[in-house]
Parts: sequence; structure tokens; C-alpha cells
Amino acid sequence: MERTLSIIKPDAVAKGVIGKILDRFESNGLKIAASKKLQLSRMDAEAFYAVHSERPFFNDLVDFMISGPVVVSVLEGEDAMSKNRKLMGATNPKEAEAGTIRADFAENIDANAVHGSDSVENAAVEIAFFFSGREIS
Ligand code: ATP
Ligand code: MG
Repeated sequence: MERTLSIIKPDAVAKGVIGKILDRFESNGLKIAASKKLQLSRMDAEAFYAVHSERPFFNDLVDFMISGPVVVSVLEGEDAMSKNRKLMGATNPKEAEAGTIRADFAENIDANAVHGSDSVENAAVEIAFFFSGREIS
């Protein structure tokens, strides 16, 4: 059994599709082991996306991630990390396969509806960033 971190980003929360996105996970065999809605601070977003701090789009990414509340969830199941990445679709929604979350709910590469951990190792770090052990079950 594997765990991964999902973030429903401010664009999707503002659109009112939290339930529709969580349903994609549950309908595809991913259990929601923890979930909460919160407003990221600038420091939170900079720390969370620190790997991208040298990229030209870093400031826009941080501004976007703090533009409104997000929903962070721990997804659990067989191959949870790669399964979630498949359900999400490509980073650029214009390249995302039909039926994926980003194809259905995202506007562009900046406002792309969801985040998902990109490795099992990063998933553990990202889950610990948002949740204590007793919040996950
Ligand atoms: P995420 O980490 O949010 O799940 P991802 O793993 O598909 O997305 P990353 O390469 O980790 O993509 O990029 C993190 C975020 O930075 C993307 O979700 C996107 O919003 C933004 N981003 C990535 N590449 C670009 C780019 N070339 N131009 C603008 N924004 C970008
Ligand atoms: Mg990423």
C-alpha cells in the first residue's frame, strides 16, 4: 500500500470542483486517508515548491498557489503515486489526455487544477509537510 500527496489548487477550489476531483480519486481505487482545506502562506508555498526556486516561473507559481485556499489530501492505494499522476494528466492541460483531471478542469499551465507528488520519496516529504501521523488513517 502506497501513499501520495494531492493538492487541489486555488483555480479548482474557486471553480467549485473539489467534490468532482475527490470523486476521481475514490472512483479509481484511491482512498482519501486525510484531507483538509487551507490557505497557504507565501513562506509555505516557497518551501513546498523549493525545488523550482531557480525556474523562471517560480514567482508566478508561488503567487498562484497563495491566490486562494487549496485542498490537500493524502491518497492511499496500490501504486498511489503513479496512479494519481495518470489521473491528473500532463502539466500543460492542452497536452493532457482526454478524461484526465487537468483536461477536464484546468485552464492553462499556470492554473492547472491539481498537484501530485512525482516520486514515492517526495510523497513522504510532502505528506509530512502538511499532516501529522494521527491525521492520516
Ligand atoms: P505539480 O508539481 O504542480 O504537480 P507537475 O509535477 O506536473 O505539477 P512541475 O514540473 O513540478 O509539474 O511544475 C510545477 C508547477 O509549475 C506546474 O504545475 C505548473 O503550474 C508550473 N510550471 C511548470 N512548468 C511551467 C512552465 N514551463 N511555465 C509556467 N509554469 C510552469
Ligand atoms: Mg511537480
